[in-house]
Amino acid sequence: MFKFKIERSDMGAVAGKIQEAGTWIKTPIRVLNSRELTHGEKVMNGAISMQEFPHPIYEIPRHFRKNTILSFIKNHEVSYKIQKQVEKDSSKGGNRITLFHPSFDKDFEVTDEINAKLIEMQLQCNIDGVSIWDNNKSSHESWDKRLNKSINLVEDSALEPMPTLNMGMDDIVFKKKLDVVKDHKTVLLNVAYAPIKKFYRNYLHLIKLVEDNDIWVHMSEVDRYWGGNYKSSMMHIVPFLGVSSVAVKSKPVLFGLFKRVPKPAKRFDGRCLGHITSKEHNQRYGKDLGCDCFVDEGRDLDGFYNNFSGSELLNSALVCHEVNGSLDEFSNFRNSILQSDCRNYVKEKEFMKSPFKKIFKIDFDNRTLN
Ligand SMILES: [Zn+2]
Repeated sequence: MFKFKIERSDMGAVAGKIQEAGTWIKTPIRVLNSRELTHGEKVMNGAISMQEFPHPIYEIPRHFRKNTILSFIKNHEVSYKIQKQVEKDSSKGGNRITLFHPSFDKDFEVTDEINAKLIEMQLQCNIDGVSIWDNNKSSHESWDKRLNKSINLVEDSALEPMPTLNMGMDDIVFKKKLDVVKDHKTVLLNVAYAPIKKFYRNYLHLIKLVEDNDIWVHMSEVDRYWGGNYKSSMMHIVPFLGVSSVAVKSKPVLFGLFKRVPKPAKRFDGRCLGHITSKEHNQRYGKDLGCDCFVDEGRDLDGFYNNFSGSELLNSALVCHEVNGSLDEFSNFRNSILQSDCRNYVKEKEFMKSPFKKIFKIDFDNRTLN
């Protein structure tokens, strides 16, 4: 079982600590997911070690199409196969805190039966944070009933119940469902990302929740880019909304779905917190990569693009760098929160200014907010 303590908050962002079996994990933090780990295996030809991804928290995302989830509850062979896949992903994560995050097609109703079956599976897969999914269409009263039943089940196994809500719902219902979570006093809450501007009120409820409670909010399915420019790194924006750990939405590596990198390829850069092309990188920083993660170590900009040539390999290398580079940046960001210096942190990050102006109405150049 975990404990979570908030140490300080600044501009909606919180710095906290997760305690698990005598060790402390500092937040906000970037979470590694099983698909990103697969990219690492690809780059390293399978010879991946724990040091390569120093992330203490690991997420297994799994999207269930409507037909798959229906077979999952009815067909033993299908559920057995899926369970084996989740077990495999879980064991790959090693000793990290492992969270399972199922997702579903839009408007799909996660019934009590589906939720119960998913919990049953998670309990057998060495998962630490067991997802209890909300039925998007149900009332807060049914959510309360579901949590009552499910939390007991999970706690009997000495695991951590993880209520899971979608940010993209009606704000009055969302607020009531958050209150239900608060009443159940779980340490951990998982939310699935939805566009911030569209569901801004829900995000404000989330900020309010963490202002008054020591609750670890883990956000899944976060877009890689901010839609306003396809450059700003979205995962570095959501921590300003009370989120303590972030997992990025990524497609499965299998079946060649992820073969192509949009051209020209963009690379995450922690110095500006944007994704930039090699040309832009060269103009800003010359050949210096500004990172010593396992795909960058001993290389400069040309060395990186020459070494990882071919769109598939390049894509995997870009993912590996982003996973590690953003982890480092979260640690810098945490220091800014602790020093109540988030304002200067954002001002120094070129690609944070525009989303801040559009989303939070803060214009750092014109100083509309002091
Ligand atoms: Zn790197």
